[in-house]
Amino acid sequence: MRKDSAIYVAGHRGLVGSAIVRNLNAQGYTNLLLRTRAELDLMDQAAVASFFHENMPKFVILAAARVGGILANSTYPADFIRENLLIQNNVIDLAYRVGVSRLLFLGSSCIYPKLAPQPMKENALLTGSLEPTNRPYALAKIAGIEMCWSYNRQFGTRFLAAMPTNMYGPNDNFDLQSSHVLPALIRKVVEAKFLGQGTVVVWGSGNPLREFLYSDDLAEACTFLLNLSDAKFDELLGETDPPLINIGVGEDVSIRELAQIVCEVLGFEGTLEFDTSKPDGAPRKLMDVSRINALGWKAHTSLREGILLSYESARRAGVFS
Ligand code: GDP
Repeated sequence: MRKDSAIYVAGHRGLVGSAIVRNLNAQGYTNLLLRTRAELDLMDQAAVASFFHENMPKFVILAAARVGGILANSTYPADFIRENLLIQNNVIDLAYRVGVSRLLFLGSSCIYPKLAPQPMKENALLTGSLEPTNRPYALAKIAGIEMCWSYNRQFGTRFLAAMPTNMYGPNDNFDLQSSHVLPALIRKVVEAKFLGQGTVVVWGSGNPLREFLYSDDLAEACTFLLNLSDAKFDELLGETDPPLINIGVGEDVSIRELAQIVCEVLGFEGTLEFDTSKPDGAPRKLMDVSRINALGWKAHTSLREGILLSYESARRAGVFS
């Protein structure tokens, strides 16, 4: 990417998109195309078409999606499949129509089968049944990967699907009903401390294992991928396999350990209580990151460091007031 290339970051106010914008700004990219949801409804095909034809982006990072934690996914399954399919259909198709050079489609580790061998390699895609709690979301994302691959084969586009593991960081969703586990635990611990409560309730058994990637690390990986040489980028796109690459840390922790770490980092000395009426979801979701590591990129923010940065940013944004 040249410093003045027109780069469209879809979803620039979210956890992932905002980190990508911070990273691109810090690296001196001067021509970012950004639209809020009010300015451009990505589910509206005509609006997306006008936007692409008027602005002619050269690079597209698709970080706009309907996302949420385990409860939100099971409460609003129709919204999760419909909105994600519409957004990605419109953006991927228009990227092809206006001749975008490279597109990065972001998904999540839940595209892999519930019982995929761990750590999960890219070739685990479609080798088994999905975790039921987020199947509608996962199927939409799998359709997006297939769409990138199909367009690459039929039209010679360069569309790559990057699957990050569980993300956290600034601009995360801290709403207890719809958030993912890490922001939820940060909020619960902050509130317990403030209210002088002795316990924090953790959903499920505490046994599931999850991997957590700090959003700035993901953003760095995205810029890194988009800047690979044509030869390396084309190698990732492949022909016989979907154009898919995992982005993660390569290490996981149990939800119980995670809760203990959040308590330590935020200085809470009470106890944890496990509410087993809530679902556990997939038993383990650890990414195999050998593919991206071999290209020369590795995550570097430690979980403790990331939790503190995430907490501080939310506090500054008035999330806990
Ligand atoms: P998942 O990775 O798609 O399963 O989504 P989540 O991040 O929502 O949940 C991960 C795991 O953390 C599940 O086993 C949840 O039951 C558990 N968990 C523990 N406490 C919480 C909480 O307060 N909120 C959420 N969302 N999950 C929690």
